[in-house]
Amino acid sequence: MEVNHYQKAKSLEEAYQLLNENSRNSILGGGTWLKQASSSHETLIDLCDLGLNQIIETKDTIEVGALVTLHDLESNEAIKALGQGFVSNSISHILGVGFRNVATIGGTIAGRYAFSDVITSLLTLDVKLIFYPKKEVSLEDFLNSKGKMSDILTHIIIKKSPGKGFFKKVSSTTLEFAILDIAVYQENYKYKISLGSRPSVAMLSHEATDFLNKQEKLTEEVLEQTAQIVLDTINLGSNKSATKEYRSVLAKTYVKRGIKEVTTL
Ligand SMILES: Cc1cc2nc3c(=O)[nH]c(=O)nc-3n(C[C@H](O)[C@H](O)[C@H](O)COP(=O)(O)OP(=O)(O)OC[C@H]3O[C@@H](n4cnc5c(N)ncnc54)[C@H](O)[C@@H]3O)c2cc1C
Repeated sequence: MEVNHYQKAKSLEEAYQLLNENSRNSILGGGTWLKQASSSHETLIDLCDLGLNQIIETKDTIEVGALVTLHDLESNEAIKALGQGFVSNSISHILGVGFRNVATIGGTIAGRYAFSDVITSLLTLDVKLIFYPKKEVSLEDFLNSKGKMSDILTHIIIKKSPGKGFFKKVSSTTLEFAILDIAVYQENYKYKISLGSRPSVAMLSHEATDFLNKQEKLTEEVLEQTAQIVLDTINLGSNKSATKEYRSVLAKTYVKRGIKEVTTL
């Protein structure tokens, strides 16, 4: 990585003006991904003086600043309570604590990384992203959008979720990207299912959960049908880590296991 200038922004407005002044200017999160990418930058804009490293719990939501580190996020009590710990669990598999003390949730979401473990778990919850100057968008819509961002991600608003979640990262070794991420969340017998690192970015199967949410009983046949709908509606592919066929077997197995785990019978 090559950087010509580094600047601490005094306000979000200043950061925004600077970001849009030159297409080679970028916002700095923890710098972990930027550092290992080969791209060069005119100015890196640091938001560290703007109070974006706070986690604020309200009655219904958890408001997470973009500069909150992955380790602060995973160890926060309110985050640990989400879905009985599955979001914290999805973060705890990302490299070591030293790395997670630097990487930020803002850099993670803004990057829309296909292999992101935490994006896969968060996608099953009600999550809104707040951008400066004035945009609010769901995590799902953001992941479906394309192109370089001209706005600044300031906060991630997570609706408190007292249901139960399941998260599984399948990888060859703990330090490698996932071959497949699987997340299932259930609250009042309403389910959400997402697959990440497929190898494209995480996505939900609305069709599978529409089917599952209508069932009166969770039989083996219902589980089998749900897993099949997931495979029919979420496109899996091959890359050097795994074939599409192997990912399909993993998805079928862990979707069924996840639904069973989050269902209190
Ligand atoms: C070697 C390595 C291995 C990894 N392995 C995994 C893994 O197994 N699982 C996993 O889930 N993740 C993994 N990651 C990703 C990691 O968890 C982080 O998500 C990623 O590195 C970005 O974190 P950062 O805060 O350092 O972002 P940065 O590198 O600072 O920024 C990343 C991008 O986001 C932009 N950006 C940052 N903040 C904002 C903002 N507030 N508004 C707008 N744009 C912004 C930057 O301009 C840049 O384009 C890995 C990363 C590395 C480097």
